[in-house]
Amino acid sequence: MNNSKLKKQQTLSILKPDAVSKRKIGQILSRFEDAGLKIIAARLLQLSKKEAEQFYSIHNNRVFFNDLVNFMISGPIFVQVLEGFDAIQKNRDLMGDTDPKKAIPGSIRFDFSDSIEANAVHGSDSLETAKFEISFFFPEINIYNS
Ligand code: AMP
Repeated sequence: MNNSKLKKQQTLSILKPDAVSKRKIGQILSRFEDAGLKIIAARLLQLSKKEAEQFYSIHNNRVFFNDLVNFMISGPIFVQVLEGFDAIQKNRDLMGDTDPKKAIPGSIRFDFSDSIEANAVHGSDSLETAKFEISFFFPEINIYNS
């Protein structure tokens, strides 16, 4: 594809507690880098309950909200900003379907995750969400979409 027609974007990517505890950080980061996405910021941290509830507030009336929050605070997570052409969609394509049973072979969730809850990775789903999620973890970063 001709990259000159695509917009350079930034997106937030999280390697969830299951991926970190299984020591898959290196292998998963390779997927992003090999696909042309650049890691421009990264942190390893453990969320508090309050932070996880804030981050996932969009899902706070879903039946899985409490389980999701409890899972996300169960261990360290690796949070990063990925930059590249069409980064939001590219990241989501690399991740695969939310449910690993539906994810295509070769996607990160197919290869590294066990269930819809412990599904290894999170990625922003739109420009608006990316902006919120990046500033949540990296308030110092200037976001641009040009
Ligand atoms: P998303 O913001 O799309 O990443 O969704 C948040 C996360 O909620 C997903 O990555 C899953 O880990 C979890 N999730 C979404 N749907 C379900 C579900 N039906 N049951 C359990 N967890 C879910």
